[in-house]
Amino acid sequence: MHVRLLNFIGGQWSEPVNGQYHNDYNPATGEVLVEVPRSSREDANRAVAAAKEAFQSWRLVPAPKRGEILFRVGQLLMERKSELAKKMTQEMGKVLLEAEGDVQEGIDMAFYMAGEGRRSFGYTTPSELPNKFAMAVRDPIGVAAIITPWNFPMAIPTWKIFPALVAGNTVVFKPASETPQLAYELVKILEEAGVPAGVVNLVFGSGSEVGETLISHPDVALISFTGSNETGRHVAQVAGSQLKRVSLELGGKNAIIVLDDADLDLAIDGIIWSAFGTTGQRCTACSRLIVQEGIYDVLRERLKDRIAKLSLGSGLDSKTDVGPLINRQAVEKVHKYVQIGQDEGAHLEIGGDVPHDSGLSAGNFYLPTLFTDVTIEMRIAQEEIFGPVLSMIKVKTLEEAIQVNNKVTYGLSSSIFTRNVNAAFQAIRDLATGIVYINAGTIGAEIHLPFGGTRGTGNGHREAGTAALDFFSEWKAVYVDYSGKLQRAQIDD
Ligand code: NAD
Repeated sequence: MHVRLLNFIGGQWSEPVNGQYHNDYNPATGEVLVEVPRSSREDANRAVAAAKEAFQSWRLVPAPKRGEILFRVGQLLMERKSELAKKMTQEMGKVLLEAEGDVQEGIDMAFYMAGEGRRSFGYTTPSELPNKFAMAVRDPIGVAAIITPWNFPMAIPTWKIFPALVAGNTVVFKPASETPQLAYELVKILEEAGVPAGVVNLVFGSGSEVGETLISHPDVALISFTGSNETGRHVAQVAGSQLKRVSLELGGKNAIIVLDDADLDLAIDGIIWSAFGTTGQRCTACSRLIVQEGIYDVLRERLKDRIAKLSLGSGLDSKTDVGPLINRQAVEKVHKYVQIGQDEGAHLEIGGDVPHDSGLSAGNFYLPTLFTDVTIEMRIAQEEIFGPVLSMIKVKTLEEAIQVNNKVTYGLSSSIFTRNVNAAFQAIRDLATGIVYINAGTIGAEIHLPFGGTRGTGNGHREAGTAALDFFSEWKAVYVDYSGKLQRAQIDD
């Protein structure tokens, strides 16, 4: 029998009430890693009750003290960075260097939010009446449901849980079923760092059972969700009917624009990293390449050369550039899109299949793929594939490139390679995405800046930076009248 993970509810590590478990697999080899609770509604309800009770005391713990606990969390994450990264690579597939970066995001967020314990600034402002004081302060809200995907098993949970905690909320965390181990390790660290019982609860289980219970539970005040558009829409609908606060971070169809005057060596490095890093399974992955016609042919040939040299394998092997996809369904989905692309008339330059190397047959591998002659209305240029598939689109001008970039339903990240400062600033102004990179790929967000997208990528909230605190706290306006008499705003002088 394999090791069994447990839920964490009200400060106790506990078996799921129904006693059911499912297997967690290594996507590079197919081996079973651990068994994970297939929890039910009952476990989720117990977790919400524990979080609701703990909120009464946690909201009164001074924010600097809450921050000190997060600081200890950051220290523990630092100490265990390499073992956590290794576990992540085994469970999720991304290459070790990237897994280390994923843990580092959690470390950065812990120290940043620890500092917010001593800031969490509100403001004072003059009152319009004499002898009256006015200020705005941040209030905790209540129980936050944290629902996360599998592609950033450490970074995404920490982006949500740490600001939720420093702002004084309590948490019920439901991680993706594909990456339970990192969630387990993170919650163990939170416990070890001194987070009181009930303040953070962990419930493993499916979206349809545990996720649904959380989003519709009347005692859950906040939902922070990262995942697909389809699920995100549903979460917003359910939550909307109860007027819950919801933050959605959804899919992307991110583009790199390369103008004729670009530094091509730099652009190619940025393209390879953004399109095939994490095997294309990043919300910010580049899946569209918008190229000015003067360099289109040269760029295509040079990219084909580079792609042919990418080495597939286990992320633990230092020679590997591209790890496996998360599961078999992902391989099938990517392959279906490759067929759609060919049916639509795009030209398959390289890739477009599973590798025929017997050493890789047990894993969920797919060859890095490049399409050319792609036009903007094609499905491969519009829909999120979430795999190592890049589509090249030819344009004549900067204005046309920007138009193509903006003509998708998503708006997360975009990038432009150019040496022309005027073109760069025009792009900054006109690219309709939440994140814009100049002379860098579409990936590489830093934790102290707001993170999120426009249009179909979300619902207007931002994670990270101080923007995260705006989601996880409620503004309270406070008026203190020390005049000793009734003073009426807007009426008395
Ligand atoms: P998913 O929507 O399938 O699942 C995300 C989470 O939602 C999982 O924990 C899942 O169990 C849960 N869930 C599923 N059904 C639910 C329901 N009915 N109620 C409540 N919860 C439910 O997404 P995924 O496949 O895990 O992740 C990939 C997607 O995430 C991609 O679309 C990617 O672009 C997106 N993503 C976005 C960002 C961002 O910040 N914008 C970051 C990473 C990933």
